[in-house]
Amino acid sequence: MTDNHLLNVNEELPKSFEDLIKEVHERDICGECGGCVSFCSAADIGAIEMTEDGPPHYSNEENCLHCGICYLICPETFELNSELNKKYNFKPPIGHWSKIVSAQAKSSKIREVATDGGVVTAILIALLDNNLINGALISKRINSFQRIPFFAKNKEEILEAAGTYYQSKGPIPELGKYNTFVSTISELKKIVFSDYMKIAVVGVPCQIHSIRKMQELNIIPAHIVEYTLGLFCYENFKFDDVARARIEERFKFAFNDIEKLNIKDNLIINLRDKDVPITIEFSELQDIMRHACRVCENFSNYFADISFGGLGSQKDHTTVMIRTKMGQEIYNLALNKGYIVEPHELNSSVEKSKMLAQIISFSKRKSKRAEGFGLK
Ligand SMILES: Cc1cc2nc3c(=O)[nH]c(=O)nc-3n(C[C@H](O)[C@H](O)[C@H](O)COP(=O)(O)OP(=O)(O)OC[C@H]3O[C@@H](n4cnc5c(N)ncnc54)[C@H](O)[C@@H]3O)c2cc1C
Ligand code: SF4
Ligand code: SF4
Ligand code: SF4
Repeated sequence: MTDNHLLNVNEELPKSFEDLIKEVHERDICGECGGCVSFCSAADIGAIEMTEDGPPHYSNEENCLHCGICYLICPETFELNSELNKKYNFKPPIGHWSKIVSAQAKSSKIREVATDGGVVTAILIALLDNNLINGALISKRINSFQRIPFFAKNKEEILEAAGTYYQSKGPIPELGKYNTFVSTISELKKIVFSDYMKIAVVGVPCQIHSIRKMQELNIIPAHIVEYTLGLFCYENFKFDDVARARIEERFKFAFNDIEKLNIKDNLIINLRDKDVPITIEFSELQDIMRHACRVCENFSNYFADISFGGLGSQKDHTTVMIRTKMGQEIYNLALNKGYIVEPHELNSSVEKSKMLAQIISFSKRKSKRAEGFGLK
């Protein structure tokens, strides 16, 4: 890293929270991930805080040390991108990868609850079983459309957090605010119990991007993140009861009847007692898309050790893109020890080319959307 990263060229001062306000908040592209607040150098005395519904703000500006950490780690700034691009050998539009495959968890117990093929859950369990991690930072449901960050320390907890099924049939609370994005990064500091612990983190591209920035800067406790399992992500949604009612009316279903949600090439909604899912194109959901997602280009999670998505694979299978040496090692461990299987018929060179073509196409589509919104 050069000093230029910390300097505002005109003023020769480190960029800091004021610059985040100007460049991110005022442009309405803050993802409300909570990273800047959690990792603020003045967190103990209090300088910035999250607001109830919107970007963080100064709670006590006088305490700000103008150190620039918040600016550097924010996924919405360009800082450190050239270092990361180099380190992870990034090539547009989908980044570096060494293997692409359609796979499935061998355990039917995992497949029954997983979003796609349960490969993420199977790899996390393999890592725990083989004592390679103390736990995994993931997210779990608290009710329909609400998930919270969750540090899973055993197989049962990992299984409990898998997938996007909604078992509870109770009514969805009224006057609710819903966000399919979960601020897992802000949890990172809270889960540390030893300097020597090792964890895996599952996250969408902006979350993995933040972690890589922290690792690049040696910010504690990013060093405990041993493995990053990245999810593909076209967009996330934020809405309230009014928007919910509008969607129910427009697409003729009730949120209470949803059994499973899947974000793949479209939003796919499986209803209880209905065999055919409702498919909603992303373009139909622009009004509830989180604002940060409009300018996000990263679909395939190019800084992760392994990326996972449903796109490109058949139902109940996960598309897996292995990117780093570590990613290759843990995937091989899970495969060789029988946690996951690679169905032969889904992995011919023709099938793999189709998989790749779809990922490239979605990545380009996402970049084009970002350009349309005036990319950062
Ligand atoms: C918000 C979101 C958007 C996505 N968008 C796309 C897309 O556009 N196209 C596509 O092909 N795939 C997308 N995916 C990935 C896809 O839905 C599956 O997660 C992926 O295929 C892995 O499936 P699996 O069955 O192997 O995962 P599972 O074995 O079911 O494990 C999924 C893991 O992800 C964790 N998780 C779930 N939600 C979140 C969250 N919000 N933040 C952090 N961790 C979470 C769970 O706790 C679990 O550990 C998205 C995923 C999420 C969470
Ligand atoms: S102390 Fe540093 S990290 Fe905290 S708000 Fe100020 S510039 Fe940002
Ligand atoms: S995107 Fe995250 S790190 Fe950036 S300003 Fe918003 S809350 Fe802070
Ligand atoms: S589209 Fe980008 S900004 Fe939005 S949740 Fe996904 S990775 Fe984060």
